[in-house]
Amino acid sequence: MDLRWREITSQRNSFATLYTACELYGYNLISSSCPGGDVTLYSLNSIQAPGLLDEIADAPCVTVVGGPHATACYDELVDVADYVVVGEGEFTVPRLLERIEHGQAPPPGVATQNGYIPVDHSVILDSYPSFSEYKGYIEISRGCPYACSYCQTPCIFGHRMRHRSLDSIHDLAKHFKQIRLVTPNALAYGSDGKHPKMEKVERLMATLKADGTRELYFGTFPSEIRPEWVTEESVDLIRTFCDNRKLHIGVQSGSDAVLSRLHRGHSCADALSALDHIRDGGLVPIVDVILGFPDETEEEQEETVRLVREVCKSGFVHAHRFIPLPGTPLAGLQSTPVIPNAESVLGSLALAGKVTGSWNDPELRFFRRVSY
Ligand code: SF4
Repeated sequence: MDLRWREITSQRNSFATLYTACELYGYNLISSSCPGGDVTLYSLNSIQAPGLLDEIADAPCVTVVGGPHATACYDELVDVADYVVVGEGEFTVPRLLERIEHGQAPPPGVATQNGYIPVDHSVILDSYPSFSEYKGYIEISRGCPYACSYCQTPCIFGHRMRHRSLDSIHDLAKHFKQIRLVTPNALAYGSDGKHPKMEKVERLMATLKADGTRELYFGTFPSEIRPEWVTEESVDLIRTFCDNRKLHIGVQSGSDAVLSRLHRGHSCADALSALDHIRDGGLVPIVDVILGFPDETEEEQEETVRLVREVCKSGFVHAHRFIPLPGTPLAGLQSTPVIPNAESVLGSLALAGKVTGSWNDPELRFFRRVSY
């Protein structure tokens, strides 16, 4: 079969992973800027999906869509694409291609206009290298036990954390001079995601730095750390083994009431404590915040502005505007307006180089990447 992968810039990592998974089963994906061949595959996020729906519907070939948006909205996308992959793709996509090739009904985990049979497996990371011919990031962990109400991650990958083995990570790391890892919370490696196992994190870092030839970036782009996991011990490990001098934590709001409504599972005090540990350890904090959550009051946004000011005394803030992502508990809700003081303070700090991101236009975050 002539199999095409529709190039979408933000989905390059998915391509690297699925290219490898399909290769394992004897299927070769060809990257393409338009649909064609026998089958074209798309990975869709919820921002870019609307701009591609007409193309998918009119494609001159069989179409397969997957990714976060397809998982969240599979019942709508079956009207646009021939097959919609719900959830993880590594096992389902090659299995589906085989069924298409032999004219058989789709496997579990795939929706069509004829219905949907729920997925019957969960991917073991060691069975699928993160990349082969096309390099991607090394995914060390998948799944998240938290349930932040704006986040699609647990909806796609579930609440149970799964980890790639040290051997597998080490093999993949040999391809890089600079190692960067994908995980919902870098410090949760080897754990259930709620109870740290720092000895496993230390073993991971020591393994990756063992031959002394590679730089290890840990707790920074493309994976951040939850604030309550930042302790003197964890900062010490990062100082000892890793090459980044900045640490990226997701805090999202300076208001305890908002954090509680979001089910973040940490408090503002946890965030302030993390900032202290990061600074005391000689590292620079980068903090993610989101403005405009549904029902966020002006006073709650003021609390976030105060947090932003505090962070910027010694670090940087990456600010986003709330997006009601499909499949999440906050899907379909409206973002509240950003208050004038937040506009003014974040604008000034952005001019000073302290704040990046887009707190007015949420779509920008999917088209622009900032390096710290
Ligand atoms: S925001 Fe992070 S901690 Fe919260 S559910 Fe998503 S991945 Fe998990």
